[in-house]
Amino acid sequence: MMNSKEIINETIKKYRCFHNPSLARLYKFAGYNSIEWASEGIYLRDIDGKSYIDCAGGYGVFSLGHRHPEVIQAVKEQLDKMAMSSKLFFSRPLADLCELLAEITPGDLTFSFLCNSGAEAVEGALKIARLATGKTRVISAINAFHGMGVSGKTGLKKEDKPLVYIPFGDIEALEETINEHTAALILEPIQGEGGIIVPPDDYWPSIRKICTERNILLIADEVQTGLGRTGKMFAVDHYGVVPDIMTVAKALGGGVIPTGAFIAKPHVWNCFKSDPLIHTSTFGGSPLACVAAIKTIEILKRDRLPEKAAVRGEYFLNKLVVLKNIYPEVIHSVRGRGLLIGVELAKEGIGGALIPALVRRGVTAGYTLNMPRVIRFEPPLIITEEEIDKVIVILEEAIKEAKKTLSI
Ligand code: PLP
Repeated sequence: MMNSKEIINETIKKYRCFHNPSLARLYKFAGYNSIEWASEGIYLRDIDGKSYIDCAGGYGVFSLGHRHPEVIQAVKEQLDKMAMSSKLFFSRPLADLCELLAEITPGDLTFSFLCNSGAEAVEGALKIARLATGKTRVISAINAFHGMGVSGKTGLKKEDKPLVYIPFGDIEALEETINEHTAALILEPIQGEGGIIVPPDDYWPSIRKICTERNILLIADEVQTGLGRTGKMFAVDHYGVVPDIMTVAKALGGGVIPTGAFIAKPHVWNCFKSDPLIHTSTFGGSPLACVAAIKTIEILKRDRLPEKAAVRGEYFLNKLVVLKNIYPEVIHSVRGRGLLIGVELAKEGIGGALIPALVRRGVTAGYTLNMPRVIRFEPPLIITEEEIDKVIVILEEAIKEAKKTLSI
């Protein structure tokens, strides 16, 4: 029988030899050099039984916490009946989920297509935007992240379809960039991987107006911000804006079954009229995923988790501001909305010392793909103020350790 250390070493070796050597290095560098083994509520547990408050939260996946018992129960019950869809008959869970999505999304967002991930939701949204408008050009933002197909980070661009990138938050740049070939503008309401960038309050209402006037579709990518994360059911709700298409994923499957969706207004959905199968997915909308998503939405509404995210997010942010004022040589600024929180460090290298120091003390935090100076806190929306206090105490200890390590 191997002991846990041997199992960890063997697993890391398999990552190096058969999966992704650079990723293995990155995990070790970040202090995540154990094996995830179990999880419950706000806690992750590694193979040695050590607990971590999961403040990375799967980058928004674990909004209900890990393994929410009611989602698990709904999935188990469905598993005993039917797991995958035949794609031949009508599916009751799919019909119920689409109705619920129409109910919780703003305005006349009505029709949903169900898929398995955020990238698929974005890919589908872009496809129907191009079909509905008969145009191909799409505008996105620098440092955006929408999955592999659309990213404002160099090296991840797919140039087979015209994509242009403008600065996030820049209204003039948008007006100048729209031309007769433009089908759509796709934006995250708050940039996640770009470093938790919250735009000015008038940005979304202004771009909504411009998209309507210039006759292009507005796609809100709510894959990370959606379903309560920012303190409203959807981040666009802060601005009273109804996009033409919205993408969701991450939290939708309740942290139990991967699922995503794009939801659109009826005029956009006209593109399915002549061919109902113009966009399809083998696995999307499986009964398992649908019952997980239905239960997730029920819990979000019943337990008022968006409202809780707003209150707890403000509490967390205020505590972080206090730490920033004490340690300006470590923390440059803190920002966010609800429980989507970014901490911009004073220098890029600090994260390499700070995150492992946090992990050693039992708190996870996330890196940011397009802005390495920013670390992210996206805990489950069920986190309590006492638990946030615990995180803050641990963060202060980790800051002190990082200061010592880096001699700052
Ligand atoms: N869109 C946004 C805003 C995201 O943050 C992500 C992932 O982080 C995606 C799309 C892609 O989602 P997935 O990794 O599920 O494909």
